[in-house]
Order: sequence, then C-alpha cells, then structure tokens
Amino acid sequence: MKRTNRENRLDNDEVWGKTPFILIAWLGFVVLAMFLIIIFYLASPRLFQISEIIGYIIGGIFASILIVIGGGLLLITLTCITGLDLLYPHGKTQITMRILPPFVYLLGSSVLKLNKDKLRESFVAVTNALFWAQAKKNRFSPERILILLPHCIQWHKCPWKITWSIENCQKCGKCPLGTLVDFHKKDGISVYVATGGTVARRVVIESRPTMILAIACPRDLSEGMVDVYPLPVYGILLSRPNGPCFDTHLELDRVFDFIKLFRPDIYEKIVLQEQKTAKAHDREAFSTQE
Ligand code: SF4
Repeated sequence: MKRTNRENRLDNDEVWGKTPFILIAWLGFVVLAMFLIIIFYLASPRLFQISEIIGYIIGGIFASILIVIGGGLLLITLTCITGLDLLYPHGKTQITMRILPPFVYLLGSSVLKLNKDKLRESFVAVTNALFWAQAKKNRFSPERILILLPHCIQWHKCPWKITWSIENCQKCGKCPLGTLVDFHKKDGISVYVATGGTVARRVVIESRPTMILAIACPRDLSEGMVDVYPLPVYGILLSRPNGPCFDTHLELDRVFDFIKLFRPDIYEKIVLQEQKTAKAHDREAFSTQE
C-alpha cells in the first residue's frame, strides 16, 4: 500500500515521550468518572427504591472501579515524573496497565484524531520509564536476558533463515544481526528473531527470561509489552527509513549500553568477540560511543 507523505513525515518525526499517553489517560479517567457518576445519579433513586442493599452494592462497584483505575494511574504518573518506583504491588499484574492502552488509543485516535503509532510510542516511553524506576531498585534480576528482534531487521536479500536459529547468520555485517548474533547464548543472554506475536510469545515461554530487551516497531512493541506484562521489558523502537517492515534500522549502541549496564561481566567479552568477527569477515567492527 502506498504511504502518504503525512505517514512518512510522522515516521521520521521525533518519537513521542511519556506526556501524551499520561495526559490522555487522565482525560479518559475524568470522562469515565463523570460517566459513572451520572449513571449512578440517574439510577440511584430507582435502585434504592428496589432495595437499599442493591443501591449500595452498585455504588460500591462504581467507586471501586474508580479507586483501582485512578489509584493505579496516579502511581504510574508519579513514578514517571519522579523516576522513583512508587508502583504497587511490585512485580505483580497492575490492572491499570492492561486497561489503559486500548482505552487511550481509542480516545486518542478516534476522538482526538491523533496518530495511533505516536500514541503507541508514548506508551512505550511510559513502560520504559516504569522499567528504569524498578531497575534502580533492583526489582528484577538480569540472570536471563532475552533480546527479541523483528524479522524486518534482516537484510532483505539475505538467503539465510535466522528465525529460531540466529546462529545461521553468516555475520556479513549487512544488517545488525551480524553483530547481535555474538550475544546469543552468552551466560544467560539469548537472542531470537520473531516473525510475529505468536512466535514472540512462544520464545518468551520457552526461554523463561527474567528481563526482556525488545526491539520492534511501535505497534508490535506496545502490544508485546502488554502481552508479557508483568515481565520487565525495556523497548527500543526501530527506525524505518525504508518504510515499514523493510530493512529497518536499530541503534546498536543502545543494545550495547543495556548489556553493559545489566551484565558488565560479559560486556567486554562481547566487544572483543565483535572485533574478532569483524576482522574475520573483513568489515568494520561496531564500536560503542564512550
Ligand atoms: S548479517 Fe547475517 S542476517 Fe544480516 S545479511 Fe548478513 S548473514 Fe544475513
């Protein structure tokens, strides 16, 4: 399908940060609260006429919905603003994180006419902020890190099949896989290329990661983050200079920085391995910016 100029421009625009998602979520919460209050106000005389208990139960259910969603949203907002882990319960499913994304996308794209991919980028920024707040408090272990990549990162003319077995990559350096393959099976790190959500879910179940570094486009990344929640996921958005799903780009620096931070014990080994691989394949070695 031919892409419009607007779509191309939006893809190349600056990535949206946390603010749009949080603001729309609060707007949605206010709308929901008003809706429930009006419904209860109109229905309560009849409900209490039927039975006082029914009136109190319905009122209690409405109040609980608002307290759970509003409380969860408040903790998410404060964590994003302060960088302190104020989430509760720790490492458990927070219902707000499951409910919010579809609600915000619906309100943002259908009512406010905002670009859905940009809203997804904003959700990824929120999830990343929550990830760092929890990481600072050592809420999760880097014992088994799963690096999950999309298929479109592979050079489109590459003849090697790398889904499930990234080891088939010949490290020619025409795409980032030539460097990332050296991370695979290094002391608890595994690297997989997934062709879609089903494969990604299977990889997550089989590799039982304690932490995921996911690289994808806004749609796959935001959906994947909700799917595996509450597993900790840090997301890196691909850049798409050739349009969607075709020879996509990844800032390898960010992957190296992530590993350096969480697994400094093997970082140097990987850098050395990359230098050796590059020499053997007569290509430039990837080097991180200090
Ligand atoms: S680096 Fe690996 S996956 Fe990428 S084009 Fe070369 S052989 Fe194919």
